Amino acid sequence: MKKLVAGNWKMHGVAADLERVRAIAEASRNYPSVDVALCVPATLIERAARAVPDFAIGAQDVHFAEKGAHTGCVCTAMLTDAGASLTIVGHSERRDAQRECDADVKAKADAALAAGLSVILCVGESLAVREAGGALATVAAQLDASLPHGPAVASGVPDRLAIAYEPIWAIGTGKVASCDDIAEMHRTVRERLAAAYGGAAERVRILYGGSVKGSNAPEIFATPNVDGALVGGASLTAEDFVPIVAAAAAAAG
Ligand code: PEP
Repeated sequence: MKKLVAGNWKMHGVAADLERVRAIAEASRNYPSVDVALCVPATLIERAARAVPDFAIGAQDVHFAEKGAHTGCVCTAMLTDAGASLTIVGHSERRDAQRECDADVKAKADAALAAGLSVILCVGESLAVREAGGALATVAAQLDASLPHGPAVASGVPDRLAIAYEPIWAIGTGKVASCDDIAEMHRTVRERLAAAYGGAAERVRILYGGSVKGSNAPEIFATPNVDGALVGGASLTAEDFVPIVAAAAAAAG
């Protein structure tokens, strides 16, 4: 399966940073065996998409409603209109700070897929849950409650869906899950996908996220069932991000 390396710029990025988008897009052309995307702030999507028309620009969240009285929110039609081709849903920073629950995440994923967007759906456990031995059960329960099942999925689009396993304690901390723990978790994710989608589960990419860098990417990408990465801090510059893309290309052989 072609690996996907997606950057999450979080609340970073103004017009002056479009040069970085251009640099990343240009360098990524050297690795056609890898799908590369940048999820930028909503305010930058249209300008980024215009700056690099042949490159995947995404959003970091989307509302599940088509339109309406949702102050401050952005719907799928606004994302596609701005030039986004994908969106993240269920990032732990939103689950935590915006109190998003699995049902919200599922509704967002369903709406985004129905609108033709690709989706990166995030799941992951806290440190307390991992230390208590509940990581696998927690992530399995998140998936069972948040995997999209709407009409778009029924018509067979799991290839536009990716799952990002992001242990919360590894996001932005410099701590990385061990390759054994990643392999165990990604196997569980694959099993839950198979329970939901049958044979089509094989077409869903499972990304790892949590302090991925050029230095640790090769061993992460060599881990079974790791089909790419969701990258926060190291996606902000070509210097940090492109080595991760190169590692994905090397893993593809
Ligand atoms: C993320 O925000 O999804 C993430 C994985 O961040 P970082 O790479 O900085 O840990």
